[in-house]
Amino acid sequence: MVEMSPFEHAKQLVEEIGSKIGLTDREKQLLLTHEKIAHKRIVVKGNVYHAWRIVHSTALGPSKGGIRYHPNVNEEEVKALSFWMSVKNAVSGLPYGGAKGGIKFDPREVDEETLEMISREYVRAFHEMFGADKDIPAPDVYTNPKVMGWMLDEYEKITGRKTPAMITGKPVALGGIKLRGTSTAKGGFIMLEELVHRENLDRPKMTVAVQGFGNAGSNFARLCADAGIKVVAVSDSKGGIYDADGLNVSGVFEAKTTSGSVTNYDKGVKISNDDLIKLDVDVLVLAALEGVIRKDNVNGVKAKYIIELANGPITPEADRILVEKGVTVLPDVIANSGGVVGSYLEWVQGRSGFFYDDAELEERFSRRMKQTFDNVYGYAKEHETDLRTAAYAIAMRRIIDAERARGALRS
Ligand code: NAD
Repeated sequence: MVEMSPFEHAKQLVEEIGSKIGLTDREKQLLLTHEKIAHKRIVVKGNVYHAWRIVHSTALGPSKGGIRYHPNVNEEEVKALSFWMSVKNAVSGLPYGGAKGGIKFDPREVDEETLEMISREYVRAFHEMFGADKDIPAPDVYTNPKVMGWMLDEYEKITGRKTPAMITGKPVALGGIKLRGTSTAKGGFIMLEELVHRENLDRPKMTVAVQGFGNAGSNFARLCADAGIKVVAVSDSKGGIYDADGLNVSGVFEAKTTSGSVTNYDKGVKISNDDLIKLDVDVLVLAALEGVIRKDNVNGVKAKYIIELANGPITPEADRILVEKGVTVLPDVIANSGGVVGSYLEWVQGRSGFFYDDAELEERFSRRMKQTFDNVYGYAKEHETDLRTAAYAIAMRRIIDAERARGALRS
């Protein structure tokens, strides 16, 4: 049960936080207006698919944001996601505005040839919007490096030029970077380490529960285990498992890979996803879906710290209650920004033609994540506010300053 549409949520955040940082009504209005909303019809093998590419802002640079394939994709959702990309890019100090794209269909129900045709048609429909200095797509829900490779190929065929920086999250063979595959989890983990340090958490005694064991959640759990942090519970769509002494994360990963679910891991106690949210752990990591912590279950949450690796896993009403309870939430716009920071490094390489080695990439990545954490954490302490408000305040101020410098807000 999601209590508010994603774009209503975005509006509310702009209103509340914008007022706190003294934005005028015109400035708030500008933040809630999209630069370009494109909706097209794609026809493949006689079937009609609805597709969108929506640019929220290009004040800070070319717009950047993923392309989602999902049966629930709709214009309101893509509008909200493109706004969130503007915020995510701005708070991370990246030279990007925000955009998002999507096609309304279930990619699991089509064969690979059809998937490729739909992906190429999408580029044919929107290619005039794309470009390394205009609008740069990336993977999102149910799209991956293979899809990005087809899209790059189609774009280069249409334009007759090799421009690897027009898309990120592409295969390494086409100029992608290895780091990108795990960068979301890595970025979130670097921020957890910063939180441990700043809040003087007792690392050896710390316990972590991870909801969602896909790309983001499983890699995050592995990084915790490798660093000696105890992961006591993990879950996927079929349920979860719990072991107070700590799970063997490699063993759980193996069970998930071979049997399809973490629940088939042969040690620990089986629990539901709802039980996992209510566990008495230090850190709860949400890496599955949006709207999993709501008004009706938020009072069961016992964790002192929550990391939002998923986009929007806490509803606004529940978020307010968590802030009142003194729970520290590392918000999605910074916690999962490792994905776009990895993309940024890939784009820099693609544009310059100069390739860093893996160690240099990791170093630059880590520095950027720590810098973002420091900025947001520092702002929150200085203004005695929560991390979400701090992240939005920094981002909104950066976007508005750029709009003003461009003359868009001349009074
Ligand atoms: P994924 O599809 O690889 O994994 C999702 C996991 O969630 C799976 O283990 C699935 O079983 C589990 N899940 C699904 N429904 C569930 C439910 N009801 N309860 C518990 N678990 C459930 O996806 P991902 O790439 O890991 O992304 C997870 C979240 O992180 C999404 O919200 C995504 O938008 C966000 N995110 C991911 C990235 C990235 O680079 N992977 C970047 C930014 C944000």
